[in-house]
Amino acid sequence: MVFICILDYKVIKKYYLDNRKYNFETSIKKIVKIDDNLYDIELKETYFYPEGGGQPADRGTIDSLEVVDVQKKSGGVVHRVKGEPKGPLVNCIIDKNHRDHYMVQHTGQHLISAVLKHELDIDTLSVHLGNLYTTIEINRSDILDSEIAVLEDKIYDLISQGNRVIYHETDDEGLKNFNIRRESKYKGYIRIVEIENFDFVPCGGVHLSNIHEIGLIKIVGYDKIRSHIRLNALIGKNAYIDYRTKDRVTNILNKELSTQTEDIPNSISQLKKNIDTLKLDKKNISELYIKKLETEIKSSRETVFIYNNIPKEIVQKLGVKLTNTLTRPTLLINKHEGLNWILIDSKSEEVNYSNFKENLMPLINGKGGGKKSIWQGTGDLDGIDTFIDKFKLLA
Ligand SMILES: [Zn+2]
Repeated sequence: MVFICILDYKVIKKYYLDNRKYNFETSIKKIVKIDDNLYDIELKETYFYPEGGGQPADRGTIDSLEVVDVQKKSGGVVHRVKGEPKGPLVNCIIDKNHRDHYMVQHTGQHLISAVLKHELDIDTLSVHLGNLYTTIEINRSDILDSEIAVLEDKIYDLISQGNRVIYHETDDEGLKNFNIRRESKYKGYIRIVEIENFDFVPCGGVHLSNIHEIGLIKIVGYDKIRSHIRLNALIGKNAYIDYRTKDRVTNILNKELSTQTEDIPNSISQLKKNIDTLKLDKKNISELYIKKLETEIKSSRETVFIYNNIPKEIVQKLGVKLTNTLTRPTLLINKHEGLNWILIDSKSEEVNYSNFKENLMPLINGKGGGKKSIWQGTGDLDGIDTFIDKFKLLA
């Protein structure tokens, strides 16, 4: 029984025999029309990996027609294709980048889960192989930075050592001879994947032939999910690209902060302290300046005061402080990013705001509003002289 199963795999599912075969010719065994555009194809033999074990299905073409999905079905493999292949002989091309990416992610995930178990006694609960990140949920509610360092160091040592990936075919009885990391979900024919002399686990996926092909693994963070830790791993080229990006950003920070990489956190912390001090200084100086302007206005007989490039909030605070304290209606003008105006009532005399709005504001193409005692808005610098002269007459 077991022998028949193995033979079945060796005849049809050739992706187990050669994981780097991306181009092959075979004949069509069966075609089923799904709709006007989609056909399900069974081939005499296939190197296309069907979705399974968290590993996505291969992409590619059969007879130049796009393969949109590959699934296991009744012991065989069904390829869903856009269009009807002519056959009976067909040329098949597997998307190499897609296959390689997921073989690297999948084998990398085996290695991470194996080291978690054998070095830290941490079980893997679920995994997701992503386009960028591969995530691994573990049976822990927290993890120490020192444990992540142990994990990464052991992974690095094993990748440098270059352990082979080896397959064993067995059944329920034979399974007892293997020190497997987790129980098999399957009965009958069981395929064991070994990271040479380190880890044994039942798995039906496609893997690299040697873990040195992974290149690099970096744990770049973790989240808490369902009270468990989920590790975010960058595996293979993704880790290398991330390193290049972070190196570029770090170099910019080193230059901008004139500091070494290890001192960047201290430099940023010092910058934040400096900003807080400057904010406090600015607040104190602003209050003193507002007080000075307030005194000047109160001791003057003028009704219009013109300022150049004073921060808007200073003139606004000044206007509020002056409300209901002046002996005559007063206009404050601040030439700052255009023109800003503030109109203030006096203690005894109310401004005729409708008159101001109808007759004066159009002179500067003014906009704005307010309520009794204080109004404010913006306008154009053109026409300001006439605007001021007319206000003086009005006031
Ligand atoms: Zn696997």
